[in-house]
Amino acid sequence: MHFDKRIGPGSPTSGKEYNMSTLAEYRKMPHWSTSSLATFVNCSLQYAFRYVYHLAPEHNPVAPLLGRSFHKAATWMAAKRKKGEAFNPAVAEDFFSESFLVECKSAGEISFGDGETESSLDWQGRSLIACLCESWPDEQVLETATAFCVPLISYGGIRLSEKPIIGELDLLVRNAEGKTAIVDWKSAARKWPADKADKELQATVYLYSFCAERRVRLDDVGFRFDVLTKTKVPSYMQYHTTRKYDDLHRLLWLVQSIEKAIKAESFIPNQNSFCCSDCVYGSACEEWHRRQSKTISFAKAS
Ligand code: SF4
Repeated sequence: MHFDKRIGPGSPTSGKEYNMSTLAEYRKMPHWSTSSLATFVNCSLQYAFRYVYHLAPEHNPVAPLLGRSFHKAATWMAAKRKKGEAFNPAVAEDFFSESFLVECKSAGEISFGDGETESSLDWQGRSLIACLCESWPDEQVLETATAFCVPLISYGGIRLSEKPIIGELDLLVRNAEGKTAIVDWKSAARKWPADKADKELQATVYLYSFCAERRVRLDDVGFRFDVLTKTKVPSYMQYHTTRKYDDLHRLLWLVQSIEKAIKAESFIPNQNSFCCSDCVYGSACEEWHRRQSKTISFAKAS
């Protein structure tokens, strides 16, 4: 497989070939996403339960509901900034609370962590939004919540997967140096280790997709994670990261390797995964090795 730094203008990897524009629409077709790739990397058995055998989750964790509500409120703030409209931080916090209430009501039975309640998490989410309002530096918002859908094609023009890669940019800004930069919001239990941003698959996926779809050079776009800590007093940190063309090559190789493993039904548990503590397939995982046949047989029987 050949891949070089001419992924920019004129590259055969560029081009929007899917006539849709929202993430919800893109999700209806077979696709790759950062989430699906990262799930496979963290635990291929968890990937199989979710994406191959479509097992029903055994519980309904609250964390994704909180995350979605936070993103909705942050996107609302970004849209206001883009239009140059001032807003009261309390209104942004209320926007979060309303979103979180709707998420919780439509989620059915939710599983909470130790000491967590809907009300304590509402307070936590409001604190995160208040922190973002206070700490987000003044910068030009170019876009917010922009969906993308990009085919995985090598520079040599070889289509490497039948499935495109999809996602949504939280934010596109013009930063202090006048450079276009992708920003992804994250909430985290604590501040990130110094090298975490450099290892995050998401930055690689988003930079690949952005450069391919918009025909820009990798050097011409920045990437940072804006991380808010879910501590008693939240903090806001920016983690800048870069990728080389070799990282994009590695991403394409990763997708191909994962597809080969899926075809061979080669799925194994990773009991050291950080996902284990709140895995929604814990019981299925415990049963996995007791079944004589392939996991798919278990999935059909369940
Ligand atoms: S419990 Fe852990 S090892 Fe088992 S499927 Fe879930 S993440 Fe994988």
